[in-house]
Amino acid sequence: MSAKVALIVVMPILAFSSFYSYYHSRIGEEILFRGFEMQLLHISQELERKVAPLAAKNNAAGLQFLVSDVAQRVDADLIVLYGPQEKVMAASKSRWTGSSLLGMNPEEISDNDVAAIKKGFTGKYSLYYDPFDVRYCLVAPIGYGKGGRGAALISLNMKPFLVDIKKDVIKILLASLLASVLIGTTIYFLFHSLFTKRLQAVSAAAMRLAAGEMNARAVVKGTDEIGYLATSFNLLAEDITNWRDNLEEMVTHRVKDLSALYEVAYAISQSLELKTVLPKVLDHVLDTVGEHKGIIVLVGEDGDTLKLIGHRNLSAEAIQQISRMRVGDGCAGDVILRNTSIRASDNEELRKKMPGMEREGIRSVLAVPISSRGTAFGAIAVYSDRKNRFSEQDEELLATIGSQVGVAVENARLYEKTLELAHEDALTGLANRRRLMEVLSKEVTRASRYNTPLSMLMIDLDRFKQFNDAYGHLKGDELLKKFAALLMKKIRSTDTAGRYGGEEFCLALPNTPIKGAVVIAERIRKAVEGLKINVENNSSPVGATISIGVAEFAQRETDEDLIRAADAALYRAKQSGRNKVTW
Ligand code: GH3
Ligand code: MG
Ligand code: MG
Repeated sequence: MSAKVALIVVMPILAFSSFYSYYHSRIGEEILFRGFEMQLLHISQELERKVAPLAAKNNAAGLQFLVSDVAQRVDADLIVLYGPQEKVMAASKSRWTGSSLLGMNPEEISDNDVAAIKKGFTGKYSLYYDPFDVRYCLVAPIGYGKGGRGAALISLNMKPFLVDIKKDVIKILLASLLASVLIGTTIYFLFHSLFTKRLQAVSAAAMRLAAGEMNARAVVKGTDEIGYLATSFNLLAEDITNWRDNLEEMVTHRVKDLSALYEVAYAISQSLELKTVLPKVLDHVLDTVGEHKGIIVLVGEDGDTLKLIGHRNLSAEAIQQISRMRVGDGCAGDVILRNTSIRASDNEELRKKMPGMEREGIRSVLAVPISSRGTAFGAIAVYSDRKNRFSEQDEELLATIGSQVGVAVENARLYEKTLELAHEDALTGLANRRRLMEVLSKEVTRASRYNTPLSMLMIDLDRFKQFNDAYGHLKGDELLKKFAALLMKKIRSTDTAGRYGGEEFCLALPNTPIKGAVVIAERIRKAVEGLKINVENNSSPVGATISIGVAEFAQRETDEDLIRAADAALYRAKQSGRNKVTW
């Protein structure tokens, strides 16, 4: 670039100087020729004037002196006077005197000279340039008075003058060449330092930036366009760097978020046991947001109280306070009530919601509902001792985790419900036959292993067919339900009451010898006597009685043996008139 500019400037200078030197030489030559011409004419006139008187006196010596004197004075190369018969009357080269024109050495007198001399004899002037010897010549006719006519050849050597002009031209050319080199170099360096170097610096910075060197910047020098370009480049580079940093930060965040989600999903997938899973979820959440205080709560079965499932780094006072919370209380209760997240920092409203906030050194709160399909089952809340600690991204991530956990909580609850349903008798809510058999089998195993007593009751409603026939199936169902409820009231939590089938029920009584079992059986039988239900068509409520067979587990028996024994006792109770306990 700089070299091109230097060339563009230098070329016209060189062209101009060449033209100028050519012009100068032409003019010089022209002036020289005109000067020589004048000088030649002047000499010829002097000769014309002085030759005739000398010739009249036949003064050969005078002629010779004249020629020599003039030649010396005007610094002529050659002066020759030709007289009649083309004889040399006198010559600056004196040895020529007396020789005839034709007899002269052709190396000394050229053909041009001879032709001009001949013309001179006829009275004509000849002015010519001999480029070979670099002479300017004049042949002039000369009168010898009575001696007749002749001619004079005057030759002036131009060589030294032309050489001078050439020297001048060479000087001009050299000077202009030197000037061009100087100007060119100056322009080159000036342009280079003013433009090229600075542009190169900007472009080098751009290359470094493109190669990933994010702190590459151009040095800004000057306020011209290049300075402006460098400033613009730096602003652009700053933008790109910021943009890249933001992108990197975003990607890092996203990766962190994704791994948090993965961890949470993994923890959830490990177990449906919420009490073990949810505290782990809380740990992952705290880990991800970089904090260490937090809680995770679930709404209790009553749909109002909150169960504190997990808590981290809170005082015993705070834990107690949270344990007493209901839906709508505090931040966690509030996000459950409204099913939206809260992201707040140290304000009046927040202080009202969380009275223990200052005591716990909490200044920022982020709470999200644990929800699924529009229902909030609980909340996750994380706390920080720094103001405005949680970002929108934290909130988004936590909300995602909240709904992920929500699905898990819903699934776990559905699973629990399904398990219950699978074990429950639909009509009475007691253990169904399958569950009953499982319990019996377990109790038999336990009793035989620890050698503890185990009794069982087989209960059958008396003449239930007749009851159904008399009052209808629905009334029969009602009676079955009431009986089941009564049964549940009469047993311990370790006992299991189940519906064996139809209107037959079983009671498994662990750690109960037959004596105790009979007492319980009798108590139940008695209680059933007082059980009444209202029936239509009959103003007074009606009831039923039961027969109970009691059996105790004996070592080496199976659960089936035990059932069979109880069944046999029941049969005997029926046989002996019903509304009886038999063993
Ligand atoms: P007993 O046991 O005293 O010898 O006479 P019973 O009439 O109770 O004897 P049985 O076993 O022959 O009859 C049982 C009746 O229980 C038959 C059926 O109609 C009735 N039953 C069984 N399951 C249900 C039920 O879920 N609902 C109603 N309403 N009735 C049922
Ligand atoms: Mg029966
Ligand atoms: Mg019956």
